[in-house]
Amino acid sequence: MQGSLSISPSPDASDEPAPATVSAGPPADEAGGVLTIDLSAVEANWKILRAASTPAECAAVVKADGYGLGLEPVATRLSKAGCTTFFVADLSEGKRLRKVAPDADIYILNGLAPGTGQVFADNNLRPVIGSAAEIAEWDAFTSVHKWSGGFALHVDTGMNRLGMSIEEAAAFAPRINSENHGLTLLMSHFVAAQFAESSRNAEQLQSFRDIRALYRGVPASIANSSGIFIDQAAHLDLVRPGVALYGVNPTPSKKNPMKPVVDLKVRVAQVRDVAFGETVGYDATWTARRPSRIAVVTMGYADGFFRSASGDDQKPGGTLFLQGRSCPIVGRISMDLTALDITDLPERSVKRGDFATVIGEERDVDAVGEMLGTIGYEVLTSLGRRYARVYKND
Ligand SMILES: *Cc1c(COP(=O)(O)O)cnc(C)c1O
Repeated sequence: MQGSLSISPSPDASDEPAPATVSAGPPADEAGGVLTIDLSAVEANWKILRAASTPAECAAVVKADGYGLGLEPVATRLSKAGCTTFFVADLSEGKRLRKVAPDADIYILNGLAPGTGQVFADNNLRPVIGSAAEIAEWDAFTSVHKWSGGFALHVDTGMNRLGMSIEEAAAFAPRINSENHGLTLLMSHFVAAQFAESSRNAEQLQSFRDIRALYRGVPASIANSSGIFIDQAAHLDLVRPGVALYGVNPTPSKKNPMKPVVDLKVRVAQVRDVAFGETVGYDATWTARRPSRIAVVTMGYADGFFRSASGDDQKPGGTLFLQGRSCPIVGRISMDLTALDITDLPERSVKRGDFATVIGEERDVDAVGEMLGTIGYEVLTSLGRRYARVYKND
C-alpha cells in the first residue's frame, strides 16, 4: 500500500522506468481514504472494447467527470491510446475536455441549450440534437455564423428520454440530406442493453436501422457498453462505451470481461471497546450483543458511501474488509464516519491508521453497488472529493 502512494520516483531508482504517478485531492497521509485509479486498466478496457467492436470506431463516454474518476486524466490517457471521439453530458464538461483533447470530436449528449450556439462554436463542440426546436436554433446559428462544426441527431427508439421520434426523424431526412446541414452522426440509445436477451434490443435496433436507411452516408451509433456485447449487428459505425471503461461489468449475467480500475481504501481513526448492551452511532440503532470491538473508519455518506448500507438490530448492513476479512458495518453510517465490528478479528490486529478496503480485490465495484442498493455507475459517480486520488500507471 504505502509503496504505491509515493508520488515521486525514489532517488535511487534503477534504470527500470518507474511508473509515474500523478495525484489529485489532498495528500494521502492527510486524507480519510485513498482512491487509486489505474489508468492502464482504463486503456486496456478501451482496447478490449475496440477489439470487440472492430471495424466500428470505438469512442469513449467521459461524462460526469469521467464517471467520477477524473475527466482530464481519463481522456488524456484514452487520447494517447488512439481514441478520437468523446461524449460528455454538458458544455462545462465539453470545455474541460477540449483543453486536453484539442483534436478530438466531442459530442454534448444533453444537446443544445437555448442560446449556447456560440459556446459550441468557440470550443468546437458538437451538440447531440434531439428536437425540431434544437434543429431550428442550430440551423439559424450555423448559417448566421458560418459555423460547420457538425452535430449528431438523436433518434428515440423507445427510451422516451431525449431524441426525436422516428416519424419526426423520417420527415426531416430529405431536408437534412439536401441542405447539407453538417450532420456527422445519427444516434440512438438502448433501453435495456444489459439484458442481452431482451427482445427490446432487437426491436430498437430494427427501428434504428430503418431510419438509418434514410440517412445514407451518415455514420450511425446505438451501442453503449452493454450494447457492444449484445450482438455484432449493434456495432454499426461507432460504439459509445462509458461504464465498462471504468471496470463495471457490461454483461451482468456473465463474468466481467473488463479489468478492475478502482481501488478504495479508508483509514481507521480509532479502535474502541463497546460493552454488552451499549449502542453504536446515531439513533442507537445497533446494540452490542456481546462485548465488542469497533473500528471507526473515516468515510461516510458525504464521501458517497450511502446510508443504505448501515447495519442495525433488525437487519445486518454492508461490510468492509480489514486484513482480508469481512467486517460488518454497525449502526448508522454518518456523514464522515462508519463503524465496523471487528470483534472476530484477532485481538489487537487492527490499529489506528490501518486501511479498510471498500472497493478492491475483495469486492469489485459491481458488488459494492449491490451492497449499497444501487449500481456500479452510481458508486463511481458518487465517489467523494475528500479522498486522495492516486493515478496509477499514468
Ligand atoms: C451514458 C451514455 C452512454 C454510455 O453508457 P454506458 O452504459 O455507461 O456504456 C452512451 N450513450 C448515451 C446516449 C449515454 O447517455
